Amino acid sequence: MARYTGAVCRLCRRESQKLFLKGDRCYTDKCGFGRRQTIPGQHGQGHGQGRSKVSEYGTQLREKQKAKRYYGILESQFRGYFVLAGKRKGKTGENLLAILESRLDNTVYRLGFAMSRAEARQLVRHGHFTVNGKRVDIPSFLVRPGMVVALKDSSRALDKFKSVIEANSSRQPPKWLEYDAETLSAKVVAVPTREDIDLPVEEQLIVELYSK
Ligand code: SF4
Repeated sequence: MARYTGAVCRLCRRESQKLFLKGDRCYTDKCGFGRRQTIPGQHGQGHGQGRSKVSEYGTQLREKQKAKRYYGILESQFRGYFVLAGKRKGKTGENLLAILESRLDNTVYRLGFAMSRAEARQLVRHGHFTVNGKRVDIPSFLVRPGMVVALKDSSRALDKFKSVIEANSSRQPPKWLEYDAETLSAKVVAVPTREDIDLPVEEQLIVELYSK
């Protein structure tokens, strides 16, 4: 699956918002967002300063781009998720976020097994995780209530995981995941709700964009 591979800090500047795409670096003073205040392609203009009035379309587009970048997803797959969200009961925008949140790479990130979604995606691809006891190496795999996601037995002793689990030990998994620190596994106990998702995006604007 193709994915965006450009300079990620640039994406935060483009969205005038920290999107936390580089793991622990995002929480330190090495964060490029704090150091460089110009928006790519708009030289000399800071966040919200001197920008021309944004059209309704432009506002909707930015919300969609923000969500895509947050989860590291390209347009075709994102649109596919939107179609899937529209087929589910309830609000399409909230369904869309629930689907994005249910991706295996995001689940692994939420459980604290990776410092960023990009890293989680790579770790899933390398086959470090199981779902219901079977190895799954597809980052876009969607977990559902009742499934159990676990770090593979043979991966538990790796220094990489020991250090990342230690570094994230204070991070609380969301309510839709019932984490067991002993077995380094989690049961999916619910579909993620809007309040479980900290994405700073107005999902209704994405729905309006795709509904034009
Ligand atoms: Fe964004 Fe993280 Fe880069 Fe800061 S360090 S600009 S939050 S990706």
